[in-house]
Amino acid sequence: MNVYDAQRMSDLLGAEGYAETSAVEDADLVILNTCHIRERAAEKIFSELGRLRALKAARAEAGRATRIVVAGCVAQAEGAEIYRRQSAVDVVVGPQSYHRLPELLRRAERESRVIDTDFPAEDKFDFLSPPSPGRIRQRGVSAFVTVQEGCDKFCTFCVVPYTRGAEMSRPLGAVLEEVATLAAAGVREVTLLGQNVNAYHGDAGGRPASLAQLCAEVARVPGIARVRYTTSHPNDMDDGLIEAHRREEKLMPFLHLPVQSGSDRILASMNRKHTSAAYLTLCEKIRAARPDIALSSDFIVGFPGETEDDFGETLALIEKIGFASAFSFKYSPRPGTPGADRTDQIEEDVKIARLARLQALLEGQRQAFNRDMVGRTLDVLIEKRGRHAGQIAGKTGYLQPVQIEADAGLIGAVVAVEIVATGSNSLFGRLAHPPAGRPPEFVQTPRGSV
Ligand code: SAH
Ligand code: SF4
Repeated sequence: MNVYDAQRMSDLLGAEGYAETSAVEDADLVILNTCHIRERAAEKIFSELGRLRALKAARAEAGRATRIVVAGCVAQAEGAEIYRRQSAVDVVVGPQSYHRLPELLRRAERESRVIDTDFPAEDKFDFLSPPSPGRIRQRGVSAFVTVQEGCDKFCTFCVVPYTRGAEMSRPLGAVLEEVATLAAAGVREVTLLGQNVNAYHGDAGGRPASLAQLCAEVARVPGIARVRYTTSHPNDMDDGLIEAHRREEKLMPFLHLPVQSGSDRILASMNRKHTSAAYLTLCEKIRAARPDIALSSDFIVGFPGETEDDFGETLALIEKIGFASAFSFKYSPRPGTPGADRTDQIEEDVKIARLARLQALLEGQRQAFNRDMVGRTLDVLIEKRGRHAGQIAGKTGYLQPVQIEADAGLIGAVVAVEIVATGSNSLFGRLAHPPAGRPPEFVQTPRGSV
């Protein structure tokens, strides 16, 4: 979502006459778009700001002004602290008010320390400028679109409900319009984003639309070949959405469905509101609807009170389900969340050891899943030139990167690729049916420099 927000800020400022630079030394304006989810992400901001302060001073000596903006969830949560620790910052803006950036930058010419961490009544999406076709092409054939923001679930480890605010969904029509703009410029794949994307209930002419309905309508936008969505909460995975995975061919057979822990005791104290067995049953139901679906998850180890037995239950759940990929983290106490106040925090060395065991198990599953692809023919969306001359790179329906010896003219096409080998992160393949001329799904508009 931060990638998407950064693009929207860039589009907004593009309309004000700013252009992106590739080197920070050339920038008159630097925006750090920040993440507050774990302490390490948040702390990185302060070291980065130290470097920018030096850059600002060096540019000032050469007679060039530099404005520094801190945006995103660290700005939201620690706005005052940012100013206290780093005087070089000009503007602090939260994730729900960045549509006001042009006005905030104008204010920064007159005042020092401009800060906007409101949760405004207006919908920021109504004030954002659409990207130009050239920018869309530059960003590639796969695009993000935020459809839902914020969260009302209050898991006891998580800052999102505090930093992103209450749950809201964008109207169905607004999302479809944005997807149509992207598709008209050559985008083939859309990932619908939300902190709890499957709680989507955007307005559709006075009635709420479900995520299943949204996916179906996005799939019908001319030019769109693939639809994905992330991130989902198990409790919002309703039958309609599971049915969409059976019915909707363009909905990719890959689902990121975070479970966090396999211990019912820990799940309850995390306020996840489901059991390990309920998650398992849900996964079985999803697999029954779409047998070729691959699952992925997030895990937290070392939540306060986690015993060796609790951790063992997480490993057991992973063994039972089998994940194609996963993200896993040591619990990071976040100020203001209930988990941070607990007195039964887990020692750092225990967290480190558990994370290593968990990741070894997950990595084994990921590699086995990838090895299983060898000899199969998969649809691959070609995204860009490959690592070496004469290679192109794309992704399978399971989000695996694939390197293929073929012509760059295929960028934007979905092609059948026979997988011949696996590397540590990528698969290697060859075109299953070398296309004669341009394949039919290639392309509504010229690809330009994509
Ligand atoms: N809405 C999604 C997750 C959003 S946050 C869900 O409910 O699953 C992304 C991931 O960051 C979470 O799934 C969790 O695994 C991790 N995370 C969030 N807060 C954390 C914390 N305090 N410490 C460690 N990991 C955390
Ligand atoms: Fe955070 Fe996800 Fe829980 Fe919401 S549902 S509080 S975003 S982990």
